[in-house]
Amino acid sequence: MAVLDEIRPVRAQQTGTQISSLDWDGIKVEVDDLPSLVRLDGGYLDLVKRCQEEAYSEEICRLQAGKWLQKSSSLLSLAPILGSDGLVRLGGCAGRAKLPYEVLHPPLLPAKHQFTATIVRAFHLSLKHVETDYQISFIRQHFWIPGGRELVKRIRRECEKCRRERAKPGEQIMADLHESRLEFGSPPFTRTACDLFGPIDVLLSRNRTAKRRGVLLTCLVTRAVYLEMVTTLSSDDFLLILRRFIGLYGQPRVFHTDNGTNFVGTERELFEDPEVFQFIRRKGMQWNFQPPRTPHFGGAHESLVWSAKRALYAALDEEKKFLRHPTEETLRTMLYEVAGLLNGRPLTAASEDPADLRPLTTADFLNRANTASPPHGTFDDAAGWTFEMEKADN
Ligand SMILES: [Zn+2]
Repeated sequence: MAVLDEIRPVRAQQTGTQISSLDWDGIKVEVDDLPSLVRLDGGYLDLVKRCQEEAYSEEICRLQAGKWLQKSSSLLSLAPILGSDGLVRLGGCAGRAKLPYEVLHPPLLPAKHQFTATIVRAFHLSLKHVETDYQISFIRQHFWIPGGRELVKRIRRECEKCRRERAKPGEQIMADLHESRLEFGSPPFTRTACDLFGPIDVLLSRNRTAKRRGVLLTCLVTRAVYLEMVTTLSSDDFLLILRRFIGLYGQPRVFHTDNGTNFVGTERELFEDPEVFQFIRRKGMQWNFQPPRTPHFGGAHESLVWSAKRALYAALDEEKKFLRHPTEETLRTMLYEVAGLLNGRPLTAASEDPADLRPLTTADFLNRANTASPPHGTFDDAAGWTFEMEKADN
């Protein structure tokens, strides 16, 4: 009798699914749809439910009947639960942790389902083509995809932009980590590397543009990033940025900068300016110069700055599609958003096991919730933005 009871709902479910099978090809999820999707608004609850029914019909029936899952079920290790909205959600032992329900019990999505691929593709674009681990840990704040790593990798392989990026030669071989990278226990930005990038054209008024630079400050231990726009490369403007940075994050003990061909013209003058030097000395900071192209000398900050810049370029490059000539305020906003994105990067690998802790991010070291959303990308009202970025090795 018990066996019959088990079979009947399964069959009913399967028949029901077949009758109302959806044309998943026609279902698109755009980047702008993601906020509704993660809230399961606007019909997305139904779509996720349908998707789960197609993949997990047997598990749903057993959960509805309050039975254990079969030993052969692929979801067994996730201890799934049935939410009050009827969705199969991640179970697990963290149920009493003081975190929102959606974070503890995200809905499960089958990795092999077309709808899941559509969703992952939208996240991939929204997160500006970030690396696999970042994407996985970000998606997990909203959905749990068993075996999702392969899917995320596949989406990255299929993405033309990511393919082009990966084909670029010239990856740097890292030397051993410098001791400054391994100094734990000190607050973020105790050891800070500074670099400049740009120029970026901004719109001052109608038909009038100007060039602006970005300042990148990176913590050598936690990889935390602070980005700021600098109006001119004068020492006055640069010192204002340093003061603002110190006001927000505290004073670095050691300050690393390149001292050579990485900086050209006014950039080099800036770092040779006695006023800047005086400021840093007065504050009691130790200022480390590094000869050009010598990652083995004096610290490994060059490669770190380079990887931060690379992520920054990728994110800004995306924005370029929507923007021509941002205003200064828009550019500054974008830089803050990119910094938020970079600070949300996982520093450790994302595990497949829900019982494991989520990966550590830089935001954890800054005592901030990891809620940075990717750059907005819809400043499309500003017309005619041109974008010029020097290569990092100029
Ligand atoms: Zn991509």
